[in-house]
Amino acid sequence: MLKTKKMIPLAVPHMSGMEEKYIQKAFQENWIAPLGSNVDGFEASIASYNHVSEAAVVSSGTAAIHLALQLLNVSAGDTVFCSTFTFVASINPALYLGAKPVFIDSEEETWCMSPIALKTALEDARQKKQLPKAIIVVHIYGQSAKMDEIIALADEYGVPIVEDAAEALGGTYRNVPLGTLGDLGIFSFNGNKIITTSGGGALVSKQPEKIAEARFLASQSKEDAPYYLHQQVGYNYRLSNVLAGIGIAQMDVLNDRVAKKQEIFAAYEAGLADVPSIIMMPELDVATGNRWLSTMTFDTDEKTPEDVMALLKAKGIDSRLLWKPMHQQPLFQDAPFYADEAGDVATKLYETGLCLPSSTQMTQEEQEYVIEAVKNILSK
Ligand SMILES: *Cc1c(COP(=O)(O)O)cnc(C)c1O
Repeated sequence: MLKTKKMIPLAVPHMSGMEEKYIQKAFQENWIAPLGSNVDGFEASIASYNHVSEAAVVSSGTAAIHLALQLLNVSAGDTVFCSTFTFVASINPALYLGAKPVFIDSEEETWCMSPIALKTALEDARQKKQLPKAIIVVHIYGQSAKMDEIIALADEYGVPIVEDAAEALGGTYRNVPLGTLGDLGIFSFNGNKIITTSGGGALVSKQPEKIAEARFLASQSKEDAPYYLHQQVGYNYRLSNVLAGIGIAQMDVLNDRVAKKQEIFAAYEAGLADVPSIIMMPELDVATGNRWLSTMTFDTDEKTPEDVMALLKAKGIDSRLLWKPMHQQPLFQDAPFYADEAGDVATKLYETGLCLPSSTQMTQEEQEYVIEAVKNILSK
């Protein structure tokens, strides 16, 4: 039995202790603004970690996606292909621009975008003479999609890729950082992500001119003139210099956090191996996810994920259902959906899966307690 009475949380922020030093620096320099040395330092750190020359930090991951779509000239009436198995923030920016999402199913080996469903959707779009302006590929729970196949299709049809790596900072595909394989990539530093600035996001690209343009758009598109000159729509999306200070200190511990998340996943995998109904989230041989959240599916007629979540809660354990697919949301009831050859994989994942506690501060004792509880609930 666990000694402490408090809930074991799903995932909570994990500060390094050095954040306040950088916050203090912002105060000392009196750069309490969306620019300053912390913003520059945080951008440099994200760029170098991800082997790109430039990164732009912004107020949220959602803002970064909005900028990415704006950079690709997504506008009213355009279509954008989106992973259905994701958080709604992947899609909302398309709606801000008046574009119409088309949802692409997951496949079973990565839970990410199905190249087979994508191919069907692209063939259809070509026939209807309305190819999408962008494909937003989500690396769900920090796990890489099948990028070789997806990039080959995107190239064949000439459609740019935006990687929503909001959950995937620190993950790789063929040793290339997730977020840097497509045309544009985004990260999130919201409170529940692998590192956090309380709220924030970043845009990366191998093309530095794209990042310069993003910074321009994120600063109200203010032209370089002696008076206020504006020629196009702009946004107020730059990240606060105070919050960027948190980000610099968090980047210093990112590799530790990734290693710990992977350890947590491995412990679940080993601890739950003898429960035949449980399958932990799979991973491609060529990819290394950051294991942001440890997730599993289970195969039993007796209990739904909601039942299991309630039973865990009664034992002081916080868990979460998997993302409810976007094509199942009332908001998108009219949007087209392309299923994988195995059927509607995303819905099946939602109906059979659960996220387990994955905080990097979790003790071994707490994790053993969770494993025992899950075993008790699902072994019967
Ligand atoms: C968190 C998240 C976002 C949005 O990031 P915010 O910083 O919260 O705006 C986008 N996509 C996915 C997949 C996410 O998990």
